[in-house]
Amino acid sequence: MPLAEVAYLGVPFDGGCSFRPGARFGPGAIRQASRNLRTQWHPAYETAPFDDHQAADAGDVSCSPFCIGDALTTIEVTADEVLTRAKAVVSLGGDHTIALPLLRSVNKIHGPVALLHIDAHLDTWDTYFGAPHTHGTPFRRAAEEKLYLQDCSVHVGIRGPLYSKLDLERDAALGFMVIHCDEFTTRGIADIAARIKGRIGDRPVYLSIDIDSLDPSAAPGTGTPEVAGMTSREMLLLLRALQGMQFVGADIVEVSPAYDHAEITSLAAATIAYEQTMLLLKSRMAMARKLKAPESK
Ligand code: MN
Ligand code: MN
Repeated sequence: MPLAEVAYLGVPFDGGCSFRPGARFGPGAIRQASRNLRTQWHPAYETAPFDDHQAADAGDVSCSPFCIGDALTTIEVTADEVLTRAKAVVSLGGDHTIALPLLRSVNKIHGPVALLHIDAHLDTWDTYFGAPHTHGTPFRRAAEEKLYLQDCSVHVGIRGPLYSKLDLERDAALGFMVIHCDEFTTRGIADIAARIKGRIGDRPVYLSIDIDSLDPSAAPGTGTPEVAGMTSREMLLLLRALQGMQFVGADIVEVSPAYDHAEITSLAAATIAYEQTMLLLKSRMAMARKLKAPESK
């Protein structure tokens, strides 16, 4: 019998990091920064989320820092276990490699999900130095394993230089729509949210957020910072505009506290995890209403 609506699972793994390491310390930093949050009343949702819903900290995955393959297995098995005790998981990274085993776990319950990926980077490259499992390749592997629905998945916040002019074509062939970060200025949040909702519809959605989608001024403590990113306000307004979608799981990854200043990055990540919680709770409540509806007729 599930005990919690939402569980937080720390994934202290950074063995797939290609540049600045240290995201293994992300979960601890996010938890520490979360002490600053007032979670009694959420004014944007007009809800006291934890009055009616149980949320639990499931602790950290005890994953190998030496063997990426072993770590991926441990993360998947642990996420499976947590999902026997909670309806949904918000995972605290960890580098982006961890999204692959988390998607595998979510697939066992929900089948292939729409993937909403907010990141400066595509993360659909094939290999780095011949290595298939890195923080730049999780969604290529996920495509090969058919873990997400290819005609209704979206990258948001993409920007910066690429390895090849073919990168975007290869990514499109994997079934992603790209919303470039500049579109927050040229088209606006409402337009972006409408396009995301139009593409994904009422399919179950996994929400994977790389903290480097934020501008380095809002999130300096991360593995591969990229200038000209989203503001934290744009992030929160976008997430709130996505209410009504069917979120079934979420992660916030790539917080690397050693490069942080004054907890700017970890506070942003903790706040995003709280907003992800709200989206998951809203989705759970909508699903429960749907299940109840036939009886009340
Ligand atoms: Mn990134
Ligand atoms: Mn990423």
